[in-house]
Amino acid sequence: MNHFDRELTGRLDALRAQGLHRELRRVDTPQGTRIRIGSRTLLNFSSNDYLGLAGDPLLKEAAIQAVEKFGAGSGASRLICGSLAPHHELEEALANFKGTEAALSFSTGYATAIGTICTLLGKDDVIVLDKLVHACVVDAARLSGAKIRVFAHNDLEDLEKILKWTRRGELCESQTKSGTRVTHPSERRQTLIVTESVFSMDGDAAPLREIVALKEKHDAWLMVDEAHATGLYGKNRRGLVEESGAGGQIEIQMGTLGKAVGASGGYICGSRPLIDFLVNRARSFIFSTAPVPAAAAAATAGVRFIQSKAGEDRRKQLFERINELNSQSAIRNPQLKSAIIPVLIGDETRAVAASAALREQGIFVPAIRYPTVARGQARLRLTVTAIHTAEDISLLVAALRSVRNLQSAIANE
Ligand SMILES: *Cc1c(COP(=O)(O)O)cnc(C)c1O
Repeated sequence: MNHFDRELTGRLDALRAQGLHRELRRVDTPQGTRIRIGSRTLLNFSSNDYLGLAGDPLLKEAAIQAVEKFGAGSGASRLICGSLAPHHELEEALANFKGTEAALSFSTGYATAIGTICTLLGKDDVIVLDKLVHACVVDAARLSGAKIRVFAHNDLEDLEKILKWTRRGELCESQTKSGTRVTHPSERRQTLIVTESVFSMDGDAAPLREIVALKEKHDAWLMVDEAHATGLYGKNRRGLVEESGAGGQIEIQMGTLGKAVGASGGYICGSRPLIDFLVNRARSFIFSTAPVPAAAAAATAGVRFIQSKAGEDRRKQLFERINELNSQSAIRNPQLKSAIIPVLIGDETRAVAASAALREQGIFVPAIRYPTVARGQARLRLTVTAIHTAEDISLLVAALRSVRNLQSAIANE
């Protein structure tokens, strides 16, 4: 073994020793409630396909049609010659769905966060993050060069303390520069608050109305990542922002197309100037080949399905399953009815063992560990989808009860 591989093997061993080693598991079936891994078919409670659209005939047909009409690849980035009709249709559908002036799609949610945050902020600005925001937002914040401040999860007091601090800095700066308390707009440093609406690993909700009030009071901008809320909340299923009624005051609404929407990609919805500016400056948008036409077409079909009566029925079905799980067990998210239900275990190795024991029972629920969550916060992350049946939920509850490692975790909730 050469020096390079020896070094990496040593690092991998260290991960194993901490219970943090990860492996890809090959799945030989489409996404759905039953997936085959190796020789076993498992009942799947791990995907973000909340509405069961990833394998839906409607989305498959849309993707097939797009391949027939526009081919397999997109040829170039959007600004060169890759801005195909399916991308424009998707963005029109997204703006219509979210009720915003405009929308822009990216190849992934990760690329969406990186491109958007780095476009809007630079080294003189401040970004204020909820402690539990997704890794892509953390990475984007670092890459932007902005000053990063983190507030305790969903803690409005902590957030306000930080916002007051940012204002103080701004006033001092303007005083030294001009001798007055009036700041020239081009010199003013910006503050951007970023939160998720439904948090990916805890399934709880941000107090959006209160955060909006704070950002108005302290003159900050707000970006809300609706990755796990789009399609599931609000009268028109736009997300938790819609339910909060504060959509009009949120500058940047982000989301993904690979979760409830059933396809892949990410999006920003907002004002026309925001979208035009991103087209001009977002590097992950500009310097990257456009998503394949099939992905855009499947996402458009997903968005339109969500807006339809069938989409409303599908959401109802999801919340029926969530209610069944809540009523048959102590497993619930106390604060929000959510398809994401964490079963906190703590120790990494014990979480992995619990996941393996469930797999023995034919149930697939992954152990989520550092760095996805903090060290010592390992958990099973259960996700329920609309296409699970009531019987599936009963099978899950029975399996959870039979795993000794889980009994205390479940009872403690
Ligand atoms: C999944 C996720 C992303 C990233 O989206 P991808 O399309 O998977 O790259 C961003 N934010 C949150 C909260 C997510 O859960």
